Amino acid sequence: MYKHLYIHVPFCRSKCAYCAFYSTAGADEALIDRWLDRILDQYWKNVAAQMPETVFIGGGTPTLLPEKQLERLCVACDSRSETTIETNPETLTPGKAAALRDHITRISMGVQSFNPDFRRILGRQTSCKAIKDAVKIIRTMPWQFNIDLIYGIPGQTLEDWQDDLRRAVDCGVNHMSCYNLTLEEGTMLAATSGHDQIVDDELAADMWQMAGEFLSAAGLERYEISNYARPGTECRHNSAVWYGETYLGLGPTACSFDGSKRFAEPPSLESWLAGKPPEEDRIDARMRRNEIFAFGLRTTSGWRRAQWENWDEILADFRRLRLPDGLFEAGEERIRLTPQGLLLWDSVAEACLSM
Ligand code: SF4
Repeated sequence: MYKHLYIHVPFCRSKCAYCAFYSTAGADEALIDRWLDRILDQYWKNVAAQMPETVFIGGGTPTLLPEKQLERLCVACDSRSETTIETNPETLTPGKAAALRDHITRISMGVQSFNPDFRRILGRQTSCKAIKDAVKIIRTMPWQFNIDLIYGIPGQTLEDWQDDLRRAVDCGVNHMSCYNLTLEEGTMLAATSGHDQIVDDELAADMWQMAGEFLSAAGLERYEISNYARPGTECRHNSAVWYGETYLGLGPTACSFDGSKRFAEPPSLESWLAGKPPEEDRIDARMRRNEIFAFGLRTTSGWRRAQWENWDEILADFRRLRLPDGLFEAGEERIRLTPQGLLLWDSVAEACLSM
């Protein structure tokens, strides 16, 4: 029933100042085992009989799991086409990489910035040596390699940002994710900084544009607002999510989509371990259609006629929104946003929800 699988590993070594993803720091092996037992139990009940097209193991910090537990988790890594694991440099060892070697196809490493001063602002406890060592390990593996960077960090200039982009490309990546720093409610950064100290929309837009140009010159094209890849190495799992395919999420806070309904697993490890059922996000079918449509517009290819049974209706509804010229192209065969439209995706998406 579900084409894709997401597993949420809710453990981190420490909590980064900007991060709103659910994770806990300081878990011991016994707690990790309890989480893993339940993940595998749910996996055997819901997934094992039908191999997913893609698997994405995210978090949290999946490679914080000790080698023994990572090896146990590998039974849930089998996919038809792509298995990704997220990592943080300081947690990836040669032993863990060897355990994962033949079970995953992609690794996504959170660096955020190669500049230790900016990592400090973000509350990242990663040393330059740890990044170097992790890159060395990854480059001996037969995996696709993504690096996550953050731009718009207080004090960061365009030159600093270009330096981060260059250093990421020099690591031999074939995929990059570049996110604009945002103040998320409940994070340490939000508690200690005001909106005006963090957000400079104009500079962030320049940095976004620089990422597009710099990475394109290095052979990595933007294919979604925040994602860039060498041709043929786009993340299939995330593309499936943007295009509204079905996925099952296992682990606290993980979301699932069955084609019409979305569910969210309980928001804490305790309630998830206690077996609290997932919560359904109830919206009507038209709203769901609009939501899927808006998400697909995050991609640079947008939507094509062949992807919708009721394309003519979608096209008519979209045209009726009368979005400002210059933000989109809406022809008989394709609807997509222009670079300017991608930059303003939040507003476009809001409008699309009322189609
Ligand atoms: S950013 Fe990554 S490593 Fe930092 S707390 Fe969030 S999930 Fe953990």
